[in-house]
Amino acid sequence: MKQAPKIDDLSREPLVSKLFKAMETMALINSTTDFNHLINLILKATREVMGVEASSLAQIDFSTNKLFFSHAVGGSKKVKNIRLGIGEGIAGHAASTKQPMIVNDVSASEYHYKDADRETHFITRRIICVPLVVRDMVIGVIQGLNKIGGSPFDDIDLKLFTAFANQVTVALENARLYNLAVYDGLTGIFDRRYFNAWITTEYARVKRYDTQLSFIMMDIDHFKQVNDTHGHQAGDYVLKTLSALIKDRIRKSDLFARYGGEELVLVLPETEMKVAIGLAERHRKLIENTDFNFNNQKIPVTISLGVSSYQDTPEETVDKFIEHADKMLYLAKESGRNRVQPCMPKK
Ligand code: GH3
Ligand code: MG
Ligand code: MG
Repeated sequence: MKQAPKIDDLSREPLVSKLFKAMETMALINSTTDFNHLINLILKATREVMGVEASSLAQIDFSTNKLFFSHAVGGSKKVKNIRLGIGEGIAGHAASTKQPMIVNDVSASEYHYKDADRETHFITRRIICVPLVVRDMVIGVIQGLNKIGGSPFDDIDLKLFTAFANQVTVALENARLYNLAVYDGLTGIFDRRYFNAWITTEYARVKRYDTQLSFIMMDIDHFKQVNDTHGHQAGDYVLKTLSALIKDRIRKSDLFARYGGEELVLVLPETEMKVAIGLAERHRKLIENTDFNFNNQKIPVTISLGVSSYQDTPEETVDKFIEHADKMLYLAKESGRNRVQPCMPKK
């Protein structure tokens, strides 16, 4: 029987520290839901754990069935211009076979995509790459380029990288599902379900500590007319642009969500009525003064807003509390639209 190799104390130390590094990174990776941040973490970890000069992630664009290098760390950012068919280049080959692979002499490899180095001015000598497979479907490939120190990749590298990639795939898939559940597909802001969960917790906290919380409900004026006059796509464009404008201007602690069709809500923790009214007014003006252009058509857009505040209208349930802003929004519409309507304090 083959004897397992003895790991002496000297060679054990770098191995153990590598393992700890990998475990630490995995914990971070598993708790990250922001895609860009997640992928950058993965690629940084690839460099550190695999000890490579550069790492990159190629994702499959399912509309063209081509691999595109969405993220790169260490090497040239120009790699992002490269598109590979499935089966093309080393990454494309790994994607088509669904198998990890090592190429220790890239220049001699039949799979090497020579334009890649020409494009990036990076000399790739050795590659290790692993496809990311979710439910038997390849979603991308991660690769490590050139081992630091120049030695070739070996079987242990391949096993380590494969295990790492399997963990990474789970984290990526979790992040994808999380994003699907939490964000609205059209506007990219939080959806109704996430808003409900969030405000329920937040409202309980506000009641318990008797602290401040303001709430703004807004709705696009005559939006049906926008759709009828300019088309549904123009309507979508308005909704998307408007959401992005407001999203860019809110604080990190605030929650901005799509409540329904063209109804958006803004929750402002630790904020009193006066401040919330000022903010609502700024958003109203911002939208009124923004040029919305779609297919060379100028679309006039305004919003109406209802504002309520916990200290003015404390309610037992969050639903009752939300109703106040909803009623104020209705009042704002009744009294002419393009205006902010605050809720009067309860006597
Ligand atoms: P008001 O000023 O009273 O709010 O009038 P309105 O026309 O905006 O109100 P109404 O509720 O009658 O119409 C809302 C419209 O919003 C109807 C619906 O087709 C449109 N809408 C809802 N969601 C979307 C969407 O995702 N995209 C587009 N383009 N339109 C949407
Ligand atoms: Mg409307
Ligand atoms: Mg509406």
